[in-house]
Amino acid sequence: MTKSEALFERAVKRIPGGVNSPVRAYGAIGEAPRFIDRADGCYIYDVDGNRYIDYIDSWGPMILGHNFPAIRESVVKASEKGLSFGCATEIEVEMAEFICSHIPHVEMVRMVNSGTEAVMSAIRAARGFTGKNKIVKFAGCYHGHTDAMLVSAGSGVMTSGVPDSAGVPKGCTEDTMTAVYNDLNSVKTLMEQAPGQVAAVIVEPVGANMGVVPPEEGFLEGLRALCDENGALLIFDEVITGFRLAFGGAAEYFGIRPDMVTYGKIIGAGMPVGAYGGRREIMEMVAPVGAVYQAGTLSGNPIAMAAGLTQLKYLFAHPETYTLLAEKGEKLYGGMEDILKEKGLGYQLNHISSLGSLFFTEQQVKDYTSAKTSDTTAFADYFKAMLKNGIHLAPSQFEAMFLSVAHTDAVIEETLDAVRKYFV
Ligand SMILES: *Cc1c(COP(=O)(O)O)cnc(C)c1O
Repeated sequence: MTKSEALFERAVKRIPGGVNSPVRAYGAIGEAPRFIDRADGCYIYDVDGNRYIDYIDSWGPMILGHNFPAIRESVVKASEKGLSFGCATEIEVEMAEFICSHIPHVEMVRMVNSGTEAVMSAIRAARGFTGKNKIVKFAGCYHGHTDAMLVSAGSGVMTSGVPDSAGVPKGCTEDTMTAVYNDLNSVKTLMEQAPGQVAAVIVEPVGANMGVVPPEEGFLEGLRALCDENGALLIFDEVITGFRLAFGGAAEYFGIRPDMVTYGKIIGAGMPVGAYGGRREIMEMVAPVGAVYQAGTLSGNPIAMAAGLTQLKYLFAHPETYTLLAEKGEKLYGGMEDILKEKGLGYQLNHISSLGSLFFTEQQVKDYTSAKTSDTTAFADYFKAMLKNGIHLAPSQFEAMFLSVAHTDAVIEETLDAVRKYFV
């Protein structure tokens, strides 16, 4: 028995499923998850001493690679002054000023502790500001595990508010309407079904939780127009895309101005941080200025702010990071595509900059329904083979691969060799 297996045996007795977040379980794979001891650059090391090239990157935060020296040092330094005060600190002001001065659509921002909290709070603010209740989301888009967002409807059929999870009362989701990604008509239909009642449309500007599904030409522009026509706010959930596609996230990358954005993952550099922000008049609805209540004992925690701000400052000072990530993406995902083409295999490889997904389907993947045509058994086999070759992918067909600046050309070549070996 490996150490990971032994730890997993202990874990399942005291932690549901043995993990503190279900995405870590190897449920789809039928093995014990690898328990990680440490990580450095593009590598993670499990407790049995195995080294893997890591394409999870903590689900995005490690855009500069694991254990980035400047971030580690900022955390050590900040911790010497105390871990938390529950009082206002200078670094929170610096963080807010830094974000607002470099991201034009963020005029004010509030820090929270996770992406889930960011979305939950943004939706509350949007409802408070508009005085409306309905929220339009897209099937296959994940916005954290807040009750109102645990609806995917799971097919092209537009339904109103059927919860995905036990324990979510129908009442919590009856104002959540589900549209089809990349299908503006589905949004228009919902707007017509609930005229003047839609507070906001929330979208992952690049779908990255049903595998990677980029927006088709005109989709985000169309959402902007539909929101304007219907007096609804447009919320970009940039928890993955923020500071990744560009410093200003997908909004900058595609040139669309959302009314609100949510952040997580990269903004904390590995510490538990989320944030929501947007137009000043919306954010001034939030307590203690306005009537929308939202709070947090550890929000804006000085250690977390030190880590996050160091990462953001580095990214801003090194804009070439984004060209570099795009090049690495082209090398890795383009290389994988070439291998599959050469073999004449019917797979889909969706990718944009550092994000990519290999779908085990012959159908073009442009929404949740097409993503779900993937053969997850085939994926599990591929995952296991890659793991055996020292490559650590997310243990699910419906997650993205995350490249960091620490993934060198040699490491990308090594990955392509493993992919080639598998498909030959
Ligand atoms: C990860 C994620 C969330 C939730 O963030 P947590 O920090 O896990 O709560 C929300 N939205 C998107 C797009 C995400 O990828």
